[in-house]
Amino acid sequence: MEKQAENSSRLVLVLYPFQGHINPMLQLATIFHAKGYSITIIHPEFNSPNPSNHPQFTFISVPDKLLESKVSLSPGDFMNLVLALNKNCAAPFKKCLKQMLDDEHPCERIAGVIYDGLMYFAQTVADDLGLPGISMRPTAAAMLLFAVIPQIEQESVFDRQIPELQPLELTQMVTSMSKSPTDAMTEVRAASLNAMKRSAGMIANSIEFLEHAALTKIGEHSPVPVFTIGPFHKLAPSSSSSLLQEEADCISWLDKQAPKSVIYVSFGSMASLSKQDIVEISWGLANSEQPFLWVIRPGLVLGSEGTELLPDGFLETVGDRGCIVKWAPQKEVLAHCAVGGFWTHCGWNSTLESVSEGVPMLCRPCFGDQFLNMRYICYIWKIGLELENELERGKIKGAIKTLLVNIEGKEMRNKAMEFKGKTELCLREGGSSSSSLDEFTKRILSV
Ligand code: UDP
Repeated sequence: MEKQAENSSRLVLVLYPFQGHINPMLQLATIFHAKGYSITIIHPEFNSPNPSNHPQFTFISVPDKLLESKVSLSPGDFMNLVLALNKNCAAPFKKCLKQMLDDEHPCERIAGVIYDGLMYFAQTVADDLGLPGISMRPTAAAMLLFAVIPQIEQESVFDRQIPELQPLELTQMVTSMSKSPTDAMTEVRAASLNAMKRSAGMIANSIEFLEHAALTKIGEHSPVPVFTIGPFHKLAPSSSSSLLQEEADCISWLDKQAPKSVIYVSFGSMASLSKQDIVEISWGLANSEQPFLWVIRPGLVLGSEGTELLPDGFLETVGDRGCIVKWAPQKEVLAHCAVGGFWTHCGWNSTLESVSEGVPMLCRPCFGDQFLNMRYICYIWKIGLELENELERGKIKGAIKTLLVNIEGKEMRNKAMEFKGKTELCLREGGSSSSSLDEFTKRILSV
């Protein structure tokens, strides 16, 4: 996408400070920058992105007081973290935005505030200062069904409303998530719904053809328009926004492998495994006899570096057939011709990145929306295989062989390649994502 010079507006983007949210927001910033907008990124102090990777944007950090709030940063306590960020960042953000408006150059107005759906305080601040607020949704659009059709949580309503999506098992997912809804969860859901209703619209990092049924139903019920303009990372090439150092050497290792032979293994930035899981995965990979690239990030096993837990004799057994890194340049890895499959935790970014490159998946979701994404991949799109129950070396070896070598895997790869082609069409001029982006700028940002 070429930078268009005619625009002289600024967009303010508010980040939720975790990798799976930082990436799509900075990708979105790159898309709007390419359209000619100036960009200011507002972020909490915690997990600050590195501004030097994005010299074209202005970064402003707001105090988050997370240490004083004593919230835990573990996924299990994530609702309290969201509440603390919304409570603590609202006042400093308002002060900062007000200052920006006071200093505004007559030729460069602020066209809107785009915030991560979890940073819903930004909508209230935008309302107070008379600016349009737009929420960015970094999950599957189907997650919005819970917000726009609250009765969808009853099974009968769901089945009646969208029979095509029954394989998603949304009602079971809600039942398991809200067996004992905490006060924090109820408060976050109510506040984000309230903000969404006051917003000028939502931007979904999804693709029309992937979620047609869900998006149609959301369109019928949503009080505000939804613009589906994903996958963001393909609409405008952006620089890395990784919080950990990417180990680029793995690309030269991939260069030496046969086409479509490598299984890439990564569980994203938050999921955790047990020590025994590491042992089973190690021997499963070794016994599969396929080359593998495995991301073992510090903390993948809580409180450990991870690599010290690899079983005795494993590294000697696999030799050059295996490459282990702390963090990979994942988009580049998935686009590499040597990669034949992706063993993933089914985070939404990883899912979209794999779909965009036509790579079939071995799915091992860990928590939250990852189960919904897995069900899309395996039971609706049919471009992946679910790895259920206990992780066990024999089962892992079998699943890798199925994905990379057997006919079943070949069919998934063909289907995944079809998805890659369809994704490319959506991004071209006149395609669904590119048209939705144009409509967004016309309808929301030009008023
Ligand atoms: N990622 C990466 N290198 C890695 C592992 C992950 O760059 O070694 C990136 C990946 O490309 C994706 C993000 O981190 O953009 C993870 O987001 P996702 O939604 O898949 O999962 P989360 O980390 O939020 O659970």
